[in-house]
Amino acid sequence: MSTKRSHVVQHPVPIGNQPVRVLETQMLKWFESKFPDFKCEIAKIVNAGGASRIIDYNCDEVPILGTAGRYRTPYITEDGKICIHETFLSYVWALSYSIMVIFDEEFHGPRTGQQPGHGKEIGEFLQFGYDVLEYGLYLRRSYKRWPNSLPNPDPNWYRGDDTYYPQRANGIYVAAVDFILCHELGHAACGHLKKDAEARSKGKFIPSYEIKEGEIEADAWALERVIRGVKHSPENKETVGFGAIAGLACLLFLRKDLTSRTHPDTDSRIRAVLERLGEEKIKNLWGIAATYYVAWSHASSAGLDFGVEFDTYGDFVDHIERQLSEIKFCEEKRRFTFD
Ligand SMILES: [Zn+2]
Repeated sequence: MSTKRSHVVQHPVPIGNQPVRVLETQMLKWFESKFPDFKCEIAKIVNAGGASRIIDYNCDEVPILGTAGRYRTPYITEDGKICIHETFLSYVWALSYSIMVIFDEEFHGPRTGQQPGHGKEIGEFLQFGYDVLEYGLYLRRSYKRWPNSLPNPDPNWYRGDDTYYPQRANGIYVAAVDFILCHELGHAACGHLKKDAEARSKGKFIPSYEIKEGEIEADAWALERVIRGVKHSPENKETVGFGAIAGLACLLFLRKDLTSRTHPDTDSRIRAVLERLGEEKIKNLWGIAATYYVAWSHASSAGLDFGVEFDTYGDFVDHIERQLSEIKFCEEKRRFTFD
């Protein structure tokens, strides 16, 4: 696959204006080579007319929020071209870096006494975590260039003393975008694009429950591929799991409601990843998911209660999900009453 606005070159010189541009080649390489047969699988989907080899990489310096209240999140067109926006990618990196730092420096480190690999005091980089989170969330509705003072993916751009977390965040970001690209390709592979085109040619609408089923199917297709990647390279398991959770959790911060007519609930999608890749509830991946919920609760003023003793991060996620269920119940009731 190749990126941008239109040339079929295997791995072109990175395009774009934001620091994430330096990860473009790495991102495409990871996507195509996650396991040996995946390139053949992509070729089959392309040959069957379900997908294009070109990824449209839009690098306009604008916020994620576009016109008519729609966010510039990734999507696949009816003719099979995956479209991604660079500002959304910066947002994914910011939410990967920040949640990793907050988890290590504020939750996991103090809880276990485990020293982060950077060799400095626990908490040393916590403020960076919060500052990068704030910048990432800012990009949702406004745009400004990545501040020079903040850690970012480009070692030539950022020369601060935190290189440990940016390097790890780069891996998580690449895994997050891989999951997102697989989800979009999954729509082509599962025949959703043809179904959409047929319905449109007949002037019919696809009912929302069918769109939702398609989203679940595309997630399952993507998860299956990234799991095959883990079987091929087991050392990447935590990065792949963190990436898939990051790719999904980013959606949490973009929507007012947790429920939607056309998309499965984000917490259910995250749960599916945790159950396939998180294994036992003791694993850190559950703690990472919990950290996303804590950050989301603060950012959205959802007021979730985190004051609970727990033995494993999985138990903590269960405690959070019970509260999310209550919020979703109220949303459904409100929708039923007023729609
Ligand atoms: Zn989708």
